[in-house]
Amino acid sequence: MDTLVFLGTGDAMGVPRVYCDCETCTEARTTGRNNRLRSSVLIGNGSGFLAVDCGPDWRRQMELLGLRKMQKLLVTHAHFDHIGGLPEWADSCRWMGFRGELYAPAEVIPVIQRQYPWLTGHIDMNPCDDGITLDGWQITTWRVNHGKNGYSYAYRLEKEDYVWVYCPDSISLTTEELAPMHGADLLVLGTSFYYEAAELSTRSVYDMTEAADVLETVQPHRAIYTHMSHDVNLAKDYILPEKVTLAVTGMRVPLCREGI
Ligand SMILES: [Zn+2]
Ligand SMILES: [Zn+2]
Repeated sequence: MDTLVFLGTGDAMGVPRVYCDCETCTEARTTGRNNRLRSSVLIGNGSGFLAVDCGPDWRRQMELLGLRKMQKLLVTHAHFDHIGGLPEWADSCRWMGFRGELYAPAEVIPVIQRQYPWLTGHIDMNPCDDGITLDGWQITTWRVNHGKNGYSYAYRLEKEDYVWVYCPDSISLTTEELAPMHGADLLVLGTSFYYEAAELSTRSVYDMTEAADVLETVQPHRAIYTHMSHDVNLAKDYILPEKVTLAVTGMRVPLCREGI
């Protein structure tokens, strides 16, 4: 059986933020319930795993789980918090003597190559716009609005009759952009704030109040919120739809109907 593991659940800056002494960041430095590495997940089945995104905390995330070898990676978009660990992954491929397999939408690949031109020495970069099957998962991807940050991509993964969606960075999605999420068993959605008061044109990720409307529309069986900033303090009680769980680093979720 496949298990989803949350390697990181933070926004682009992680929690604690280096400059910040707010209540959430202070807690994250002490007991650490709110400590959040940059957002990334893996799907494991005992004999290997497939990761989604490889941010700057990749090395620490591998160490925390005692993982030595990452073979396959899906990338949602080429922002630092999602690809900053690629040079370290490439080095590990080099030293272990294998080529990494990176899958990303075609328009994302040249952006990665511009930032890290040497990666192709150790990593094969494969476009996956037309869908791909990896580890028995039928995987499709589509472009989603990322607000002031442009565009990101979401992934829909289907095996047997189980469907789940990973969409860490999106906001104000259109009917077409929401369509592939409809009726998923599990929707993993990025929500950087509980309520973000800033002007919409300056924002890039849903907040939890807006995400509740997304759930109303697409009706997933369950939802997990991730990509959370220091605005979200897990010690607080937020008003959330009953089907929602807030992700914590290291959380494991069985990818089956009997899961969370
Ligand atoms: Zn992000
Ligand atoms: Zn803070």
